[in-house]
Amino acid sequence: MIRTRQDLEREERERLAPQAARAADSWGRVVPEGDHPYRTAFQRDRDRVLHSRAFRRLEYKTQVFVHHEGDHYRNRLTHTLEGAQIARTIARTLCLNEDLAEAVVLAHDLGHTPFGHAGERVLHELMRDEGGFDHNRQSLRVVDLLEERYPGFRGLNLTMETREGITKHGHAWEHPIPLPPETPHTSLEARVADFADEIAYTNHDLDDGIGSGLLDPASLEEVALWREVRREVEVRVGKSEERVLHAQTIVTLINRLVTDLVEETARRVDTVHDLEAVRASDTPLVGYSDDVQRGLRELKRFLFANLYQHHQVIRAVRKAERILSDLFRTYRDDPARLPPHVVARFGVDGEARAVADYVAGMTDRFALDEHRKLLDPHEPV
Ligand code: MG
Repeated sequence: MIRTRQDLEREERERLAPQAARAADSWGRVVPEGDHPYRTAFQRDRDRVLHSRAFRRLEYKTQVFVHHEGDHYRNRLTHTLEGAQIARTIARTLCLNEDLAEAVVLAHDLGHTPFGHAGERVLHELMRDEGGFDHNRQSLRVVDLLEERYPGFRGLNLTMETREGITKHGHAWEHPIPLPPETPHTSLEARVADFADEIAYTNHDLDDGIGSGLLDPASLEEVALWREVRREVEVRVGKSEERVLHAQTIVTLINRLVTDLVEETARRVDTVHDLEAVRASDTPLVGYSDDVQRGLRELKRFLFANLYQHHQVIRAVRKAERILSDLFRTYRDDPARLPPHVVARFGVDGEARAVADYVAGMTDRFALDEHRKLLDPHEPV
């Protein structure tokens, strides 16, 4: 009746492509631990990420739209879940390791500051002389150092493969825990996670952009990929409410990107024969056909110019920069205002890094409250 970990590992050996990462062959964890009776190493990584505090805080962190603008816009949690779902579909279809791809996507945004990329830019600027700030690096700090749940180590002690996926490519920064070995190409699962992230945010930003009225659907007609998909939907669905046509256009666009990625990747991966050859490859093995790649680039350019640079988004961005910069400077000038758990880390992580970790870990709401409490004389402390 019971499927053991050994059963799952045997299934992976039989079912997955030779180019896939297998849990039984994992590079392992920095602190050695015994195996779980009925979960593979990557399934355990996924579960550890899902049960972390940083994961729950994603719900109150901005993707593009601040949380009080409307309850149905994406936040970092729903972005992460959509990305994970897309990664699982791609990985499963290519006979890659679904658990590893899922674990990577669930963890990939844990290091994001409040208020989206605005927060990251500001912290990078403020930390310029202290090694800078980067959200991938911060996600690794969260899973390696900042989560405190286990008696024998700081962090979640994830496998090297999951940490490789979080790190993405290259790591020109200092990190106190041994980093995964660097190979010319990462696991295919790590690349799939990265593409799934892009498919998720491109589509939900389009969806939310139109839903919020910031993007004009008529002006999207200048984007070839959008136009093609939209025509296809109109033919297939026929006369229908605009709301349904719009939703179907997004559905069809996700489907087109995923299908193209799977087909093109299958073609490329066919030229390498096992995981070792994947890792040695100096050409990208996961990717789109030239046509779709071009179309997606045009669509992303459109989003950049018309959504991310929209004056209403920029207004929110400037406010966010101001709040994070005020918080960081106030704590740095007067560390006595910090809670003891942050001060306790000065000796281990350095003062500036401990403050950056604290600020980066905040949700949008907490940062706004804290800003008011610290700087508004009429607020209770
Ligand atoms: Mg993301």
